[in-house]
Amino acid sequence: MKDYLLELNRPQQEAVKTTEGPVMVIAGAGSGKTRVLTYRIAWLLSQGISPFNILALTFTNKAAREMKERIAQLVGIEKARNLWMGTFHSIFARILRVEAEKLGFHRNFTIYDTDDSKRLIKAIVKEQNLDDKVYSAGSVLARISNAKNNLIGPGDYNDDFEIQNADYQARKPKLGLLYNLYQQRLQKALAMDFDDLLFNTNLLLRDFPETLYRYQNKFTHILVDEYQDTNYSQYLIVKRLAANNENICVVGDDAQSIYSFRGANIANILNFKQDYPDCKVFKLEQNYRSSQTIVDAANNIIVNNKDQIFKKVWTENAVGDKILVYKAKSEVDEAAWISKRIQKLSSEMDIPYSNFAILYRTNAQSRALEEALRRMGIAYRIFGGISFYQRKEVKDVLAYFRLVINHQDEDSFRRIINFPTRGIGDTTISKLEAVATEMNISLWDAALRAPQLGLGLNHGTLRRIEEFTTMIKGFSALLFKYNAFDLGERIVMQSGIRKVLFEDGTPEGLQRRESVEELLVGLQSFVLSVGVETTEREFLTLDQFMEDISLLTDADIKKEELEKNPYVTLMTIHSAKGLEFLFVFVAGMEENLFPSSMALGSRAELEEERRLFYVAITRAMKQAALTWSESRFRYGQLNFCESSRFISEIEDQYLQRVDELVKIPNKFSSSGAKFAKPFNHPNAESANSQLPKPHVSQVDDGEYSILNLSQLALKMRVKHQRFGEGTITNLSGKGADAKAEILFDGDGKKQIMLKFARLRLL
Ligand code: ATP
Ligand code: MG
Repeated sequence: MKDYLLELNRPQQEAVKTTEGPVMVIAGAGSGKTRVLTYRIAWLLSQGISPFNILALTFTNKAAREMKERIAQLVGIEKARNLWMGTFHSIFARILRVEAEKLGFHRNFTIYDTDDSKRLIKAIVKEQNLDDKVYSAGSVLARISNAKNNLIGPGDYNDDFEIQNADYQARKPKLGLLYNLYQQRLQKALAMDFDDLLFNTNLLLRDFPETLYRYQNKFTHILVDEYQDTNYSQYLIVKRLAANNENICVVGDDAQSIYSFRGANIANILNFKQDYPDCKVFKLEQNYRSSQTIVDAANNIIVNNKDQIFKKVWTENAVGDKILVYKAKSEVDEAAWISKRIQKLSSEMDIPYSNFAILYRTNAQSRALEEALRRMGIAYRIFGGISFYQRKEVKDVLAYFRLVINHQDEDSFRRIINFPTRGIGDTTISKLEAVATEMNISLWDAALRAPQLGLGLNHGTLRRIEEFTTMIKGFSALLFKYNAFDLGERIVMQSGIRKVLFEDGTPEGLQRRESVEELLVGLQSFVLSVGVETTEREFLTLDQFMEDISLLTDADIKKEELEKNPYVTLMTIHSAKGLEFLFVFVAGMEENLFPSSMALGSRAELEEERRLFYVAITRAMKQAALTWSESRFRYGQLNFCESSRFISEIEDQYLQRVDELVKIPNKFSSSGAKFAKPFNHPNAESANSQLPKPHVSQVDDGEYSILNLSQLALKMRVKHQRFGEGTITNLSGKGADAKAEILFDGDGKKQIMLKFARLRLL
């Protein structure tokens, strides 16, 4: 076996070989902390420690997998396989399955995800006849989560005078009661929520000394990555497990602590020395990841934070390229510039898309980016958040659109009949389903005929069903009278979706609201993108939008293809922690977005935003690009933006400002947003007339029709109503799933669902 320790520098080697007693590695980004953990595990294994005795806690399961693979390369797959390695939640869920009965749980306990938890809270709030605006599920859950992560159970919560007083002051005196009931119900359902996994582990280790002792002896060596982002509950688990032999190694960077909003406590790293007075601290100063320019710029940024452990970071890497700063006109322009640049770099340097990442502050920003990438045929993958059109709230809205267009759409009917909640319960829906099946009619028809069908539904329920169908019919009547955006917005408002979203003040709630607003922005730029309008209709309507969307959503980038074909990574900065890419784009570098407007109130919060920026920029190996837009739609309004203060914290010598490094020849360079009207405008046509020139592939008067597979062949030239002329490069699927891949002359490659596309043979 070759000596892999030679692949480490001196302090790294020492940190790896100091296997007895507490060790802390505190060092800046890209200095090899994770590498130290990896090699340390390999080293322990080579010293004869059994993999079953090693517990390694990583921040994501992906990180754990990658580390395992690397260790397998160093010491062989057999040993690597048996390591206890994963996130806190996954590791301790595994342990709790074994120990559950001690805590009064069955070993097959269910794990509730955030959605399940919220549904439960909502039900309890309702049962208690409390105002669900005051006690919104999101805010109640956040409060409970916070308590759990500080190991305050329902009993302590209700006994604590200060907590009670705080809730009273906040006019939410029933929070303690709700916590109590929530926990009882979880217990009854034999379920644990995410926070319970940690909470109960702590109970287990606290109340069952012999169990604690067993695990202390089992995990003779404990390692924790990203230690700066552990919360109190996690901290205590580690502390308890390590108490006996103290072979604990934590690595972290206080400058990358970015999860305090979820209870992460930077003090854990700062107090490590107090907890373990004889700990050895190693500092790593050499950065191996990034160019000199990136390292220097990152240093520029982080010195602005007062709360930090001073660290020197330097690199022997080349000076490298300057950091690009692109000022866009709109988010559409921003996305187009990024996509073009990725394509250009990828082809000029002949490197796959896997070397590129686009990072952003909030998930809602991904829509414009996704759309630009799709239009250019660039494969991408969203990590962390779910792909925009897969998000629940977006799917809910799209279900309304679908049902408005097609009343027989069962799936959409089911999805929204009681969303937002309108008092049509599961029993009623089951009755409708049963009768629909029995009579072989659609759910919609069953709903329409409900009063005559003798379903035993009470008066109120029948009325609510009728209100629902009447509302949908009302929207349908406007299908060709309103443009897509105006109708879409009306649906979002009148269905009550917007109201529900506005009432949820949690960060997740805000994000959902942003997603729906983003969808409306999408509708708006769709309406505006075509400029002076089409043949038979005066303007683009909702059904045409849905056709366009089905083009985009229909997995044009399939999973298997993704596996084979490298993709661009899209993620929030939060989930990019620990990762690295040759090229990194940070989008939305604007005041109030990044730093977030919610963080401007205190220095502590602003410093956390700054650490987030530090994380973002230090992901780049070769070059970083920062983009910002002069205008951006947020919460349904066009905002004029200023560039982020963080850009100006980087010395000018490291920056290169570009107006237009890559030309953006297609229609999407002219932004919808720029010409947008304010929301609630009665009609979009006036805005349309301001568009500078008609859409490039404007519809002409020729005949278009929906073609089927048998009419098409490879290499055939066709014209699409919106995308213009192109060549068929592939045909696949059957019947309703039939698709054509067309290389459009102006628009690049696209997957077209034949059942929706209006084409003409040339
Ligand atoms: P972050 O703070 O972002 O999590 P980190 O400190 O964990 O960063 P690593 O990801 O371990 O840093 O290392 C950054 C890069 O530098 C990786 O590609 C790693 O393989 C490489 N690297 C680290 N140490 C060395 C070394 N001694 N020789 C060569 N490459 C190294
Ligand atoms: Mg790391």
